[in-house]
Amino acid sequence: MTPSGAGVAGRPGISGLQPDALQGWLDERGEPAFRARQIQDAVWRSGTDSAAGVATLPAPLRTALDEAFRYDTLASNDRVVTDGGSTEKVLHRLDDGVAIESVLMHYPARASRRERHTLCISSQAGCAVGCPFCATGELGFGRDLETAEILDQVRLAARTLAGNGKRLTNIVFMGMGEPLLNLDRVLESVDALNDPRRFGLGARHITVSTSGVVPGIRRLTALGPQFTLAVSLHAARDALRDVLVPLNRRWPVGEVVAAARDHARATGRRVSYEVTMISGVNDTDLDADAMAGLLEGDLVHVNLIPMNPVAHTPWTASPMPVIERFAGRLRAKGIAVTIRRNRGQEVGAACGQLAAERAGQPPAPAVALRRRRLELASAAALRGERSDEPMPAGVSE
Ligand code: SAH
Ligand code: SF4
Repeated sequence: MTPSGAGVAGRPGISGLQPDALQGWLDERGEPAFRARQIQDAVWRSGTDSAAGVATLPAPLRTALDEAFRYDTLASNDRVVTDGGSTEKVLHRLDDGVAIESVLMHYPARASRRERHTLCISSQAGCAVGCPFCATGELGFGRDLETAEILDQVRLAARTLAGNGKRLTNIVFMGMGEPLLNLDRVLESVDALNDPRRFGLGARHITVSTSGVVPGIRRLTALGPQFTLAVSLHAARDALRDVLVPLNRRWPVGEVVAAARDHARATGRRVSYEVTMISGVNDTDLDADAMAGLLEGDLVHVNLIPMNPVAHTPWTASPMPVIERFAGRLRAKGIAVTIRRNRGQEVGAACGQLAAERAGQPPAPAVALRRRRLELASAAALRGERSDEPMPAGVSE
């Protein structure tokens, strides 16, 4: 029916259906063409979670729709409000019991900027890349999300906001998972988010973040501008990036930046780079200068984000003066830099944390061993030695 397939529960989620697939299903039943529009409006505007909610449809069609599709692929939603109400983390359970997260962040209006409501969504349950400072990386890989499972995170947040007379203004794929390792479904989702007949959010309001899947970046470049591309850089030196982003052993940082540079040139859109600042690990002058050398002259924006503490790592956030010094060295080379001061959650750094907490702590000796290995690996990397650890399992392209 669609590249998303039938999904884990046998019935595809209706929000993930391409309009022509839905039309095809209706045609087979001999329904008039305008029905597709009615159904789509109900899915995207009324936010119904069952065909029964589409009162304008004949009863037999409603029954058939309920038998063929799922109107909501999120089986349960467990909400935690933090930061004085400005951040809402939701742990979603899917039909097969897998847990994923989304984070809704509210930003009040400021002098030059309107009020914003940004949703950070997941593209996979868990993640195979295994960055050691990331709560999702600690969980390992679960599975790819279906298109509808990605989109239903957005529909839920949109409904929550609509209840308060607000609208979702930005969507970032910075939750659990590596979006470019589930690219077909991510592209289908972006298509639905952009489509004025479905969600109708402009491409400029959507950001997709990658840890550096080079073939995926090249595929996006060939498609033309669809959204803002963010690249999780974290380090400009291969030895250190091998430790912080294990995918670097497959696609080294030079190749990642070259692909991002081509992307910016071809689309005319600035690429964002994310750098999680970890005290004493990637925040030295040597690292700042290596990064400046790598990015100088490119159409980029660098975001420096103090690391959000996570269990199982020996690391902490860089102190603010160190981050400011790092920023200064990049700016001296003409690179645009923003420091995210207070909310690590801003880039989804908090995503995966609820799921990790619920998964429970591993035994203390395992945590101690993990921390020790990271200390040794980062110390070796700081001396410039490349890691000889194998690629994480499950990363294929
Ligand atoms: N897998 C993709 C997108 C999801 S992660 C990627 O890595 O780009 C979204 C962002 O949050 C990434 O830049 C990631 O490096 C960052 N992040 C993860 N854990 C973090 C933490 N503990 N503190 C700060 N940023 C973190
Ligand atoms: Fe995966 Fe991104 Fe976390 Fe790395 S930072 S483990 S790529 S979700």
